[in-house]
Amino acid sequence: MVKPRFGQHFLIDQAVAQREVAAAGLTKEDIVLEIGPGKGIITALLAEQAKQVIAIEIDTHLVEELRKKIPENVTLICQDALTVDFDCLPRFTKIVSNLPFQISSPIMFKFLQSSFSIAVLIFQKDFAERLVASPGSKDYSRLTVGVSYKARCRILEMVPRDCFSPPPKVDSAVVELIPYKTPRFLVKDEPFYFELTKQLFNHRRKKIRYTIRSLYRDIEDLPFLDQRVEQLTPEQIGQLSDKLYEHL
Ligand code: SAM
Repeated sequence: MVKPRFGQHFLIDQAVAQREVAAAGLTKEDIVLEIGPGKGIITALLAEQAKQVIAIEIDTHLVEELRKKIPENVTLICQDALTVDFDCLPRFTKIVSNLPFQISSPIMFKFLQSSFSIAVLIFQKDFAERLVASPGSKDYSRLTVGVSYKARCRILEMVPRDCFSPPPKVDSAVVELIPYKTPRFLVKDEPFYFELTKQLFNHRRKKIRYTIRSLYRDIEDLPFLDQRVEQLTPEQIGQLSDKLYEHL
C-alpha cells in the first residue's frame, strides 16, 4: 500500500534510474548513501556499481520487502533519515537518491553538514529550480543562498511525472550537487550569515535598511541598504553580514 505521507512516488522508468546512477560515476571504491530506497529500483543499480550501499528507509513494510531481495553489499537501516546521525554511518563517499519531497530542504542541509564528493538527487521540479536560481529571479531564495555557499548545483535533466507510480502532481528533476572543497567565499561568522539570510528573505521585498532597522538598529555604514535581498548575490549577502557583524 502506498503511503502518501512518506512521499511515495516510485520511479518506474529504468532509463532515468540508470542515468541518475551513471551521473554519480561510481566505482568499486565508493560507499553510497541512499535515502528512501523504496522498492529498490535505484538501490539495485547502486549495489552493482559501488562497493557498499547504505540505504535508509522509514517504511517498515518496504524494508521487509527489500530485505528479501537486496544483495549483501546493501546495509538497510529502517529509520527516519532526518534522525540518523550520519557520523555513525560508515564513511560514505557519494549520495544518490530519489528523495521524498516532504524532507527535501532539511535533508539537503543535513547532507551539506557531512562530507561527500558528489550527490545526484531527484527533487520536485520547483525545489530544483529554487536550488539553481539566479539573484533577481522569483525562485531565488534562502535555500539558494544556503546551498550555494557550500556546493555547486546544477540540473541534469527534467523527469516527467509519468515516470513515477503513483504520478506526483508535478514534474521532477535530477540535480547534481558538488560540495566546494573550501567555501566559495568566507564569512566572519557562518551562523550569523545564515540567520541574517533567513531574516532578510522573510522580508524579501523590503529594502534591507528597514529589515536591519527592525532587527537591530539604524546602522548607516553598511553596503546594499537601499537594495532588496532578492537582488544580492550570496557573496554580497556575505559582505553585508560581515560588516553588520563588526557593528554588533
Ligand atoms: N527510491 C525509490 C524510487 O526511486 O522508486 C523511492 C522514492 S520515493 C520518492 C521516497 C522514499 O523515501 C519512499 O520509499 C519513502 O517511504 C521514503 N521516505 C519518506 N520519508 C523518509 C524519511 N524521513 N526517511 C527515510 N525514508 C523516507
